[in-house]
Amino acid sequence: MASYVAPVRDIRFALDVMADLPQLLSLPGFTHVDSATVDELLSEYGRFCEEVFAPLDRSGDIVTSTHDAVTGAVTTAPGFVDAYKQYLDAGWNAVPFDPAHGGGGFPWVINLAMQEMMNSANLGFALGPLLTQGAIDALTHIGTEEQQETYLRKMVSGEWTGTMNLTEPQAGSDVGALTTKAVPAADGTWRIFGQKIFITYGEHDMTNNIIHLVLARTPGAPAGTKGISLFVVPKFLLDDAGNPAAANDVRCVGIEHKLGIKASPTCVMAYGDAGEGAVGYMLGQEFQGMRGMFVMMNNARLSVGVQGLSVAERAYQNAAQYALERVQGRPIGGQVGDSIIGHPDVRRMLLTMRSQIEAVRGLLFLNARTLDVSMHHADASERERARELADVLTPLSKAWGTDLAVEIASLAIQVYGGMGFIEETGVAQQYRDARILPIYEGTNGIQALDLVGRKMGMRGGAAFSDMLQLIEHTASDLASAGLGEMAAGLSSAVAVVGKTAGALAGSQQVEVMSGATAFLRAVSNTVGGWMMGRQALAAQAAVAAGADDGYYAAKLVTAQFYFEQILVTVDGLCQQTLCGSDAIMALRPDQFASR
Ligand SMILES: Cc1cc2nc3c(=O)[nH]c(=O)nc-3n(C[C@H](O)[C@H](O)[C@H](O)COP(=O)(O)OP(=O)(O)OC[C@H]3O[C@@H](n4cnc5c(N)ncnc54)[C@H](O)[C@@H]3O)c2cc1C
Repeated sequence: MASYVAPVRDIRFALDVMADLPQLLSLPGFTHVDSATVDELLSEYGRFCEEVFAPLDRSGDIVTSTHDAVTGAVTTAPGFVDAYKQYLDAGWNAVPFDPAHGGGGFPWVINLAMQEMMNSANLGFALGPLLTQGAIDALTHIGTEEQQETYLRKMVSGEWTGTMNLTEPQAGSDVGALTTKAVPAADGTWRIFGQKIFITYGEHDMTNNIIHLVLARTPGAPAGTKGISLFVVPKFLLDDAGNPAAANDVRCVGIEHKLGIKASPTCVMAYGDAGEGAVGYMLGQEFQGMRGMFVMMNNARLSVGVQGLSVAERAYQNAAQYALERVQGRPIGGQVGDSIIGHPDVRRMLLTMRSQIEAVRGLLFLNARTLDVSMHHADASERERARELADVLTPLSKAWGTDLAVEIASLAIQVYGGMGFIEETGVAQQYRDARILPIYEGTNGIQALDLVGRKMGMRGGAAFSDMLQLIEHTASDLASAGLGEMAAGLSSAVAVVGKTAGALAGSQQVEVMSGATAFLRAVSNTVGGWMMGRQALAAQAAVAAGADDGYYAAKLVTAQFYFEQILVTVDGLCQQTLCGSDAIMALRPDQFASR
């Protein structure tokens, strides 16, 4: 099985070209980070992921986390405890967080680049730190000073991990249906009763405390999402010195047996089973639980999009290596004994993978950049514009990034032929691991509804149009640089997406909902064209400067392939978007079952 090689040069290219990192580093709060430090960090962390996390990826798929039904304890896959200790000791967890809580104060986009490498190396492991980052985010934004003092330093360092507890058996996409209760106690704290399912790293043996963030209803709370509050529930309550002491009334009652990410413990958590209730502390205001969750949603959804990129990148690396080695048939214009890399259809598959990986990396880094700008720019109107763009891009990042992971992992298996279907080669695991990504953190169907519902309506549709205008600027730059065909292709995609958005605005709700997923893909492919256009411009300039070792010429070809094979699908996708709901809504429910 091929090992993982961190694509540090590609990551740096995307940071500079798509996320304009040099400009970002000049913003207040980031001036302590210079370009050389970024290079060093990416190389060092890339090596760490290759050497510490990647070797545990396949073994964790085979010998997974286990649960002890008597004690409720979860033992993680062999090697995970030691790998986590190394990660902690090296200080990697703290890199992007506020220096006031022991963090390194790096831009979020750098953290995203680090997440890419960690997830590629070992998705099952990376989920632990990822959930902790989400919990840190929520505490940072809505925690009281005392709560931040109590928890953040240890979570930022990674000494304690965090979890997000939303899902219950009857409350999945519809979080408002949750029934976990929070009852006030005489001392001002709360007692939590209820069961949560599918809680990632809800229990494990890597740290001496776990800080659960739990959504629950207080007595008399209104129905639906309006009545939800958020609580901090530590696994171990803290003594006066802030150290873990008495066990709280929270227990893992089982872990799931899954298709993929098998090393990651997905826990059923029982709160208040012992009778007295789990001690919880309200985070934010009563009934504002969903607002608290939404604060971290942009980051969390973006991070899941990155998981998609990561799996796709690793699958591509494996497939490209295999195609270079596998001999089968005489490639056109080649010799007997040449590898399958000479077959046009194999090249088509590899370029389909590679071009979309580069496009989606650009989107994800741009999305992270907008979050950084929305928090750090000195000018309030720039912050607001960036926040709007981040809001529009987030459903694309999550849904496109994760749908592509499944498609690209599937293509990797196809490149391997029959060997791809055999577990030893590793690509079968990538396909299995990828399959959860379009489901959790808001299914991709929900992301599409978010795009056509909330995001396209922002500022009367002007936030979406502003993004299309930015893409049109890149089309003009392409034309000025002599890349006329790319310019025309991008302009045409922008025009058809703009027209389709206009038509959707005047459509019935059921028609909009029926076309939402096709439209999300059309917009994503167009934004991908934007990123590939910027890539082409930068690559052409580098080639013209004469210092190319073949790297930039390949970047130009990859962009050309994207324009020829991916961007052209926007027309058809927009047609699909507008074909209405007649056929979709025609059958009675019972007709789906009987044929
Ligand atoms: C491995 C794993 C890890 C997870 N980790 C966590 C975690 O750490 N914390 C946590 O709280 N949860 C976690 N989850 C739960 C996850 O977020 C949910 O599974 C997800 O939100 C979907 O909910 P559901 O499974 O109930 O599916 P459902 O909501 O029942 O959805 C079923 C289908 O119906 C569609 N659908 C539902 N409602 C609508 C609608 N309004 N419009 C259009 N389509 C709709 C969905 O898109 C989907 O295709 C995890 C799940 C798994 C499997």
